[in-house]
Amino acid sequence: MGFREIEEEYQQMKYDYLVVGAGLFGAVFAEQAKSSGKRVLVIDKRSHVAGNVYTENIRGINVHKYGAHIFHTNNSDVWNYVQRFAGFNRYTNSPVANYHGELYSLPFNMYTFNKMWGVITPEQEAKIAKQCQEISGEPRNLEEQAISLVGRDIYEKLIKGYTQKQWGRPCNELPAFIIKRLPVRLTFDNNYFNALYQGIPVGGYTKLVENLLSGIEVKLETDYLEDKSYFDSLADKIVYTGAIDAYFDYSLGTLEYRSLRFENELVNVNNFQGNAVINYTDSDTPFTRIIEHKFFEFGDDLPYTIITREYSSEWKPGDEPYYPVNDEKNSSLYSEYKTMAEREEHIIFGGRLGEYKYYDMDQVIASALKTWKREL
Ligand code: FAD
Ligand code: UDP
Repeated sequence: MGFREIEEEYQQMKYDYLVVGAGLFGAVFAEQAKSSGKRVLVIDKRSHVAGNVYTENIRGINVHKYGAHIFHTNNSDVWNYVQRFAGFNRYTNSPVANYHGELYSLPFNMYTFNKMWGVITPEQEAKIAKQCQEISGEPRNLEEQAISLVGRDIYEKLIKGYTQKQWGRPCNELPAFIIKRLPVRLTFDNNYFNALYQGIPVGGYTKLVENLLSGIEVKLETDYLEDKSYFDSLADKIVYTGAIDAYFDYSLGTLEYRSLRFENELVNVNNFQGNAVINYTDSDTPFTRIIEHKFFEFGDDLPYTIITREYSSEWKPGDEPYYPVNDEKNSSLYSEYKTMAEREEHIIFGGRLGEYKYYDMDQVIASALKTWKREL
């Protein structure tokens, strides 16, 4: 047999894994499988890799095209793993809240309490504690959870409007866990995250994902759902990171998401807002936040800047799904789809959409690493 025939035969051999989705879950799983000698094909319906963490270099600024992404984790295994594929800078997220022109520090800390009530020392925390007592018993929704964490004044100015814009639902109809992510501190610490490790990959997230996928075959602009049976025939096993309800052709109904719209603008000033992230927490401003991308990478020597206004919107089929809405109705529909998914033996459902889960990047990486370990 000549080299050509060998090559042809090799081409006809099945892949061990077809990975649907070149986001973080798919890229990490593919990297692990390839490193163990498996043959992997990655496809994505978009025209680029990296899924929602995609960054595009525009005039020397890495623009986070699907929303601002700050890598943060307490998981040393995940931190050590990502270091193999990118260097990380020392960016620390400290967003500012703008409520009708009044500026407040985030997350909720001594600077916030000082501005709100004139509190100067942590000993004066009684002021906060008194407001929190309004809720007795276990908080039943986001509104009650927020008031029991930080009191009504902060809830009214910094949480209520922002959350309603973000989720398109009143706070008393949203689950409490969404707001538990935010730290409340009696210290002067503006670091938004409590994580041990934090930073932005130098050169952008796209480079990180390209490095993960190095040496792996990737086909872009290829939609798995357009010809499922053909793609299924290519590999022994499928790793599917698209939306789980779309996989089952919405047969039980549609899971709801929140979608986002981004309005990018190149502004001819060196410094537009002095920070990477400013949240607009009142309900009159139509957008939720403005991102100034250069500040993720300390690029403030440029004479211009790129900003993005982020608008939250209700999702409808065909829109980009961003945030799963993990309320009771959607969670119970998801568990029905999950039962169907468990019957599909040759398919692994993973990632934010495949598991309909509000995953951070480090959690999605940990989940992909764990999924691969299970395969072994
Ligand atoms: P995705 O990145 O969505 O990848 C799925 C891929 O599958 C996509 O590329 C899609 O095109 C492809 N696909 C879907 N269906 C098909 C199909 N039928 N055929 C082919 N391809 C298909 N996390 C943090 O840790 N820090 C942050 O600051 C942070 N900020 C965020 C901000 C926003 C606005 C959002 C929405 C999320 C944020 N996250 C953040 C979460 C982070 O984006 C996710 O955890 C991570 O990107 C999920 O990766 P994934 O691979 O599961 O999904
Ligand atoms: N939140 C808020 N005001 C803010 C920032 C956040 O009320 O200024 C609430 C809001 O409900 C949001 C939740 O806290 O959905 C979690 O915020 P985070 O910034 O973690 O959300 P992300 O956009 O990163 O998912």
